[in-house]
Amino acid sequence: MELDHLSVIYRGPLSSCNYACPYCPFAKHTESAAEHAADARALARFVAWAEAQPFDLSVFFTPWGEALVRPRYQQALARLSRLPHIRQLAIQTNLSSSLKWLNDADKSRIGLWATYHPGEVKQERFLTRCAELDARGVRYSVGVVGKKGHFEDIEALRAALPTHVYLWINAFKVGAGYYSAHDLTRLGAVDPLFEVNTRRYRTRGLPCGAGETVISVEGDGTARRCHFIERPIGNIYTQDVRELLRPRPCSRASCECHIGYVHLSELDAAQVYGDGLLARIPDPAVWADRERLEAYLERAQNLQAT
Ligand code: SF4
Ligand code: SF4
Repeated sequence: MELDHLSVIYRGPLSSCNYACPYCPFAKHTESAAEHAADARALARFVAWAEAQPFDLSVFFTPWGEALVRPRYQQALARLSRLPHIRQLAIQTNLSSSLKWLNDADKSRIGLWATYHPGEVKQERFLTRCAELDARGVRYSVGVVGKKGHFEDIEALRAALPTHVYLWINAFKVGAGYYSAHDLTRLGAVDPLFEVNTRRYRTRGLPCGAGETVISVEGDGTARRCHFIERPIGNIYTQDVRELLRPRPCSRASCECHIGYVHLSELDAAQVYGDGLLARIPDPAVWADRERLEAYLERAQNLQAT
């Protein structure tokens, strides 16, 4: 099969974090030396695989914890960023680590999905890191979990961040009725796309790029369509990945996570995010165009929510 480009969402075994957010469902593990070594081997194998592919690649690291505090992940990103066939690299991070590794990276290809965690870090410190990214010319988005109790922090963060930085809010999904109409208006004033994340979309049978233009890969090479569909589609180390890709309708009843539903054909999120899709950074031209943003909100609204 001819393939121009593939996005790979990589999640290795690493599952520790230097923070302890009460709302975090994972990252409660402390790795042994042997587990760190296994994670390092898996990462090195993945980087070697990425280097060897004959088509363009974008890679999004979505660790079970915080990976960017580990020099091996910093070096892997820097190394991948310098490869000519890498289009975009993104990583979810709490932005607590040193950013010196960016000195060795091709910054034009890097986008950071930086999440601010109130209670774990002072907002000033987080903002200092954001300012450092701006000074280095690195693209990033900033996000916060929209938990009640975070609202003032979120608004203060919006006021303090430069206007060119997108501040997204992930809905705290604990069941219907968590947000009042006033809450929705308040959070929507900070993140105009917030309402898109408040829904759980009814996705069974809908065309989705997961498994065709984007796949999720584990440390041992197991490939899945996305993080949310358990059934593997193959293994990138024992098979030619191009043979694993084909259009498929979603087999799950619903999809509620941004890193999943943005690949739904009917949502066409790429129209808003462009090459910032993986790091959740909207295309500045679209961001400035109210009509195109409204069209995206409308497409999301037309997708049936559960
Ligand atoms: S920073 Fe992220 S991975 Fe770490 S505890 Fe908080 S939510 Fe979990
Ligand atoms: S809609 Fe979500 S769950 Fe379904 S295939 Fe796409 S990413 Fe996976």
